[in-house]
Amino acid sequence: MTLRIYNSLTKTKEIFKPIQEGKVGIYVCGPTVYDSAHMGHARSLVVFDVIVRFLRTIGFDVTYVRNFTDVDDKIINRSKELSISSKEVSEKYIEEFYKDTESLNIKRADIEPKATEHIVEIINFVSKLIQKGYAYVIDGDVYYSVELFKKYGSLSGRKLDDMEAGARVDIDNRKRNPFDFALWKSAKPDEPSWDSPWGKGRPGWHIECSAMSVKYLGESFDIHGGGKDLIFPHHENEIAQSEAANNKPFVTYWIHNGFVNINSEKMSKSLGNFLTIKDAVKKYHPEAIRLFLLSSHYRSPIDFTEKGLEEATVNLDRLYGFLERVKNSLKTYNEKHEIGDIWNKFCLEMDDDFNTARGISALFDAVRNLNRLMDQNTFNIDLEVSDILKIGNVIGLFNESPESYFEKKREKATVSHEIIDKLVSERNLARKSKDWKKADEIRKKLSDMNIVLEDRSNGTIWKFV
Ligand SMILES: [Zn+2]
Repeated sequence: MTLRIYNSLTKTKEIFKPIQEGKVGIYVCGPTVYDSAHMGHARSLVVFDVIVRFLRTIGFDVTYVRNFTDVDDKIINRSKELSISSKEVSEKYIEEFYKDTESLNIKRADIEPKATEHIVEIINFVSKLIQKGYAYVIDGDVYYSVELFKKYGSLSGRKLDDMEAGARVDIDNRKRNPFDFALWKSAKPDEPSWDSPWGKGRPGWHIECSAMSVKYLGESFDIHGGGKDLIFPHHENEIAQSEAANNKPFVTYWIHNGFVNINSEKMSKSLGNFLTIKDAVKKYHPEAIRLFLLSSHYRSPIDFTEKGLEEATVNLDRLYGFLERVKNSLKTYNEKHEIGDIWNKFCLEMDDDFNTARGISALFDAVRNLNRLMDQNTFNIDLEVSDILKIGNVIGLFNESPESYFEKKREKATVSHEIIDKLVSERNLARKSKDWKKADEIRKKLSDMNIVLEDRSNGTIWKFV
């Protein structure tokens, strides 16, 4: 099997070949911690969580780095709004970020560097760029001179000559080119600042990712990821800084995920059309959210709709219903189980640029097929169940037992247990007295409430579907 990745830099799907055999270094731009994370952020986090899980499952030794931007204009503005320090703002939202990511079963990165803890590395990086002539100092600010980096625009496909300043960059007449960006910003009153050779100040946003990625992954590494909105200027600038400083290709594969849209508009804070992660998990099962987000290819936009989430919920019920049916096989599961056709099929889809959408379809096909086979006769399906659990582990599903999953659903249900129990015993009485019509009516009534019954030798059980 050969993994192929769509590389945003070359705009083609390429065979994945890490710099060092068997090892992968991956850096993903993390959050600027000044507010609650929403479903747009959740998508990027879940996508890269699955990419890392998959790479590990197929045998790569992965070093995953995801930063926290904890000094920035947005944080400073927020600290003024809340009348607390910038540090208090970033700490508050880092804590919230961990709660959100844990609630969605997103694993922590191996290294989670903070910009404010890498000021020395950042200053050294900026000094190197000044020494090499790529950066210049004006009144305590340091700017990167984009015109000197010949490849500027190669990631975003923009040419400096065709770009118009003003829309995305501030017009500042002190700069040599309007697209020159700040590596270091001189201190303003009441802002966090550090000593530097250019006076007190703080780092610009782009430089932290170049300084921290080189520290933890080296001057050249395999994968750099983030949302599509980061391609320009952030990632373009990261390339310019890193390649100018180190004279080596910065990153081999650039991976960018698409947006979550609401009514065809990007979900974002500034548009006010967002659902926070903490509100989403109150409403939907976290694994249903993951299924929803991963049921589209990571590069395509996703339309966020209630209907989509509800469908994902029904699909998750199906998967847990299957697990409940095969719970004897679950007991014998171990990770080193032989690999079967279902897993291979899933990998075939994932090998094609991490196509979780088709991988998840393959999972549902397998479950449907196995349910049908089990209806016909009993046979040992340990191997198939093992494949399905392995896929679940990559997608981030099956973190609870089917028993607890359905129990929680029952608890959450708006219909009270007493009413359901009463209907179930009424139906049992009707069956005892051979009143089949009444028994069927009650079954139908319960089914309208999304409850299914299973008559077993020791009684009837019910569950939500
Ligand atoms: Zn970054």
